[in-house]
Amino acid sequence: MLSFNTIVAPATPPGEGGVGIIRLSGPRAVEFLDVVFQGKTLATAMKSHRLYHGHLFNQHSVRVDEVLVVVMRAPRSYTGEDVVEVHCHGGSQILRTVLDLFLASGASMATPGEFTQRAFLNGRIDLTQAEAVVDMIKARSERASRVAMDQLDGHLSRKIYHFSGQLKDALALLEAHIDFPDDEVGTLDLPGLLVPVHELSLEMASLASSFDVGRALREGIKVLILGRPNVGKSSLMNALLGESRSIVTEIAGTTRDTLEEQLILDGFPIRLVDAAGVRDTFDLIEQEGVRRARAKALTADLILMVVDGCCPLIDEDFLALELCHPSKTVIVVNKSDQAQACDLELLSSFPQQVSISAKYNLGLTALREAIVGRLSSDKALSGSEGVVITERRHRDALLRAIASLEELQRSVDAVAPLECLALELREALSALGQITGETTPDEILDHIFSQFSIGK
Ligand code: GDP
Repeated sequence: MLSFNTIVAPATPPGEGGVGIIRLSGPRAVEFLDVVFQGKTLATAMKSHRLYHGHLFNQHSVRVDEVLVVVMRAPRSYTGEDVVEVHCHGGSQILRTVLDLFLASGASMATPGEFTQRAFLNGRIDLTQAEAVVDMIKARSERASRVAMDQLDGHLSRKIYHFSGQLKDALALLEAHIDFPDDEVGTLDLPGLLVPVHELSLEMASLASSFDVGRALREGIKVLILGRPNVGKSSLMNALLGESRSIVTEIAGTTRDTLEEQLILDGFPIRLVDAAGVRDTFDLIEQEGVRRARAKALTADLILMVVDGCCPLIDEDFLALELCHPSKTVIVVNKSDQAQACDLELLSSFPQQVSISAKYNLGLTALREAIVGRLSSDKALSGSEGVVITERRHRDALLRAIASLEELQRSVDAVAPLECLALELREALSALGQITGETTPDEILDHIFSQFSIGK
């Protein structure tokens, strides 16, 4: 274990709450508690992972708060060091006072993410697990938190260690042939070595491609409402948001009139985008309008293509329809409250169609089911398929590892010396090591931990 000073920070967010927790970590954590705590048991005599009741006193022996405290002794703690948590009354003044008590005893204020950074540096968790802690805290939906929990459990790390283990075996074999003559270690079976390496790079590519799903779960699945003017797009947006208004949050930095809202449907985090945002109105007759709409349609995970059920389809509808791929489109036939005159057989290439009235809230349950059904049928999105990566950093490292393995194949084809092949394998290993943190440069580590809040 590396040795550090003892740090302290509130572990609960600022503001009022039932309980507020001050956390300490480091070699003097228990000693600092002992100075301010009085109860039936001395802090130094407390058993690990047990709650004890008592009071905190300041340096003038004035009682500051009634508390529950827990000592978690190294190495069985979050950071791997001695950790103390003091459960106070959850008010900002009391937390400030208790924090000051520990600072006055000699503890240092923790920097953002320092507890988790120590857990990483002490080998309690690897970098993917540290990143999962942030994802877990920031998850806005059940599915996003499930992916984060899997990563925290080490699912991604195990996969990466499996890749690097295989590559290390191949490298050991190559190095044996570099260091010793063939008559000592036998002839090198290069094709035999390359087959598993090729299979590995396919597995890596598949993992890298799961980033699209991971990103969607983390940032929200982009559902685009598309259609010509006046078919009822805004009405549909409002109708979908209607019941779930209370859990809708606006994306930071945007205003209501960008017409992007978030909602959760059956645990799926959704970013609902009205293609005809107020500032971003596009006219499908205008080339620029079509270009913008196409760009939005391309990046959408799902399109709700709205048509007006009470009139025949017109050119502008077809322009919008051209932007929709049937596999990721639900046709929404709006205005079902009026006599229907839309020639739906012209839309037969789109298997999924739902009839609604956005204005009168008819058919919305069926539409929600269609959306959820579409998202659930995506095995990766619904979480039924293996490990998903959520960080661009992980995907880029995987792509670098794959590129090195491709280079390895080219070197073999060019009958390059074994040293060159070993070099490519080492590069691939180094790229993989950046995912788990073994070979990650310090500035990237600092950047990752700086995204944490104080006390985590
Ligand atoms: P957008 O331009 O596609 O966003 O369409 P709006 O949502 O602004 O709706 C255009 C017009 O259609 C408005 O006058 C709405 O009141 C009307 N409208 C929208 N949905 C319905 C519906 O389900 N039934 C009827 N009868 N009118 C609707």
